[in-house]
Amino acid sequence: MSLTPLVYMLSLECRHCHEWFPGITQDELGLHEDSHRLCPYCTLICDGVEQTIFEDHVFSHEV
Ligand SMILES: [Zn+2]
Ligand SMILES: [Zn+2]
Repeated sequence: MSLTPLVYMLSLECRHCHEWFPGITQDELGLHEDSHRLCPYCTLICDGVEQTIFEDHVFSHEV
């Protein structure tokens, strides 16, 4: 008898980084998605990018 791992059925995909997270809830996924720093214009993920570089990038859309 084979067990189908339940995590495959419960995996959720981050809509930003498109990583799959097995066995988390929608709430936990929401926390993960909120933890990303995203450009509000092109939704580029700027995690780990320096604040000034991030701001320069965002401002570059406004010119
Ligand atoms: Zn993500
Ligand atoms: Zn951008």
